[in-house]
Amino acid sequence: MPQTAKILIVEDDAHIRRLLHATMQRAGYDVVEAAAARQALSLLDIERPDVVLLDLGLPDRDGLELIEPIRLRSAATLIVVTARDESAEKVAALDLGADDYVTKPFDTEELLARIRTALRHQRAIAAGELVTVVEAGDVHIDMDRRRVTRDGSEVHLTPKEYGVLVELAKRPDRVLSHAQLLRTVWGPAHVERVEYLRIVVRGLRQKLEKDPARPRLIVNELAVGYRLLLREAG
Ligand code: CA
Repeated sequence: MPQTAKILIVEDDAHIRRLLHATMQRAGYDVVEAAAARQALSLLDIERPDVVLLDLGLPDRDGLELIEPIRLRSAATLIVVTARDESAEKVAALDLGADDYVTKPFDTEELLARIRTALRHQRAIAAGELVTVVEAGDVHIDMDRRRVTRDGSEVHLTPKEYGVLVELAKRPDRVLSHAQLLRTVWGPAHVERVEYLRIVVRGLRQKLEKDPARPRLIVNELAVGYRLLLREAG
């Protein structure tokens, strides 16, 4: 039996905190909560949560400033909860080491799906499973054999298309910022060249999506980055 996962909720708004607490409890998680940054850091050491939900607007410190200290102390998955629908803030959070984000008012089902994805990924790592094959809809990505098929037939990708697809496939269902993708696939000198990435993603969609104009596989996170969606299991 896997141990019950523990979620640390860092949120100063008592109403949202209670709502999140109830939602997480109903989903079967252990829950601990903090209303301020200082309390969050001490709970991190004591409670050793598996997932941290971090509100960015905290009374004692900007939530963005908490990301690095959390990363240094804990292997927990860090999901930022932001009220402000500002892409710059989301990009900053990802670059500082957050794993993902949701925007308030958030969809509870979406948040629970993000948590399930994170926990699945953590368990695979803990079990020493190196994920090298990813199935996304009718697309099959085999990273060992460098082979991508769609409905069973091989798809020929350019090296950059393959590079971007593999980076997304290594973190399925999670967002990767434009800069993260550009840094890894093109190199640090090209992190600003979002147009390179757009062209490659367009090519990938032409080859992999049923309707490239309405992507279901490689989806946009407006002004932030991209996400490779797998079919939600269960
Ligand atoms: Ca707040």
